[in-house]
Amino acid sequence: MKILVLNCGSSSIKYQVFDMDYEALLAKGLVERVGINGTFIKHQRGDQPKITRDIEAKDHKEGIQHVLEILTDADQGVFKNLDEIKAVGHRVVHGGEKFADSVLITHEVLEAVRECVKFAPLHNPPNLKGIEAIAAILPNVPQVAVFDTSFHQTMPPVAYIYGLPYKYYEQDRIRRYGFHGTSHRFVSHRAAQLLQKPYEKLKIITCHLGNGASVAAIKHGKSVDTSMGHTPLEGLVMGTRCGDIDPALVLHIMKKENLTIDEMDTLLNKKAGILGISQWSSDQRDLEDGYPEQNLKNNKPLANLALEIFAYRVRKYIGAYMAVLNGCDALVFTAGVGENSPIIRDLVCRDMDFLGVKLDPEKNKKTWRGAEGDISTADARVRTLVVPTNEELVIAEDTYAIVRKK
Ligand code: ADP
Repeated sequence: MKILVLNCGSSSIKYQVFDMDYEALLAKGLVERVGINGTFIKHQRGDQPKITRDIEAKDHKEGIQHVLEILTDADQGVFKNLDEIKAVGHRVVHGGEKFADSVLITHEVLEAVRECVKFAPLHNPPNLKGIEAIAAILPNVPQVAVFDTSFHQTMPPVAYIYGLPYKYYEQDRIRRYGFHGTSHRFVSHRAAQLLQKPYEKLKIITCHLGNGASVAAIKHGKSVDTSMGHTPLEGLVMGTRCGDIDPALVLHIMKKENLTIDEMDTLLNKKAGILGISQWSSDQRDLEDGYPEQNLKNNKPLANLALEIFAYRVRKYIGAYMAVLNGCDALVFTAGVGENSPIIRDLVCRDMDFLGVKLDPEKNKKTWRGAEGDISTADARVRTLVVPTNEELVIAEDTYAIVRKK
């Protein structure tokens, strides 16, 4: 069964096609600059070289039409015709408290996802546009929604209620939700496979460290806490997001600089984090290239500080979740930074032997670029693993499972 996976952002459409009979990735690509000048599609069929084509797409529907065109192209395509698409799985960022699992999209589900727009005003609307576009172009194809929040719906109230007047939870469902759920779920399952132990018996801390970043505490197969909150702004210091700060600072800076709500929102989400501290780049590769000596020689001491703050915050969350879980069996690193950065993994795990974490420097250095494996010393009580994430595969698997049951 061939399944199309879509991840629609505000001006981008990422796609992958899987043949679930073999769990094989057939093609992948993305449309960028949807609704802006200079729209293009990047596409890769199997292992063939990537191609880029300039296109016109004033909205997500036109963008998706281009995706379907290239997927049925004689040269670049993977379908003879569109009838071969048996289901479409969508990444949906926020499912609120309604969705603890992936679901088949019905009118009621669509309404519920629309209700969650208030929780994720930037993310859920483009997700909805993708669903609506497929419904218009391929009306008979079943669609499934896979939520970033659903894996964390198992968190207990002590982890998700804020120290705010309780009425905000009762009236508006203001609480911690957590994100990156498909990734935390995937890598924790994979960790159990690598350790050859039952998932339900393990305590695992997963660190999804990309441009956006979060840590999760997973006890016996259930997420019991995670660092992102009501929005993906809480928790770790990220590429451009501030993570945890004293909330009084929001008021203080707005007052001092006379900022509007939108300006403050942009500061916290787009100008802060590693970019804000380093005053240079949000891309960890830039900062790491010269870490630490070259950055000092280049008069970029703040690049070193930004990296060290990033790692320090991850370290603090690991310590906190060790306390939450009463120790853990495995610590997992994933996503762009977690998979590829021995420097960050070393900064995070250094001098953590008290907690049972000990990295093997050689294994740590050699594990990157899609490699998976155990990077801890033989005598470490906690197995520290690197596991490349694959959120699209999770979406395809959930879609396959739900559509097959139909
Ligand atoms: P997102 O999906 O949140 O945009 P990714 O998981 O793709 O993020 O991660 C992007 C981040 O990964 C970037 O900050 C990039 O600097 C970092 N990254 C990618 N490759 C490397 C590498 N070899 N070393 C260090 N950081 C890397």
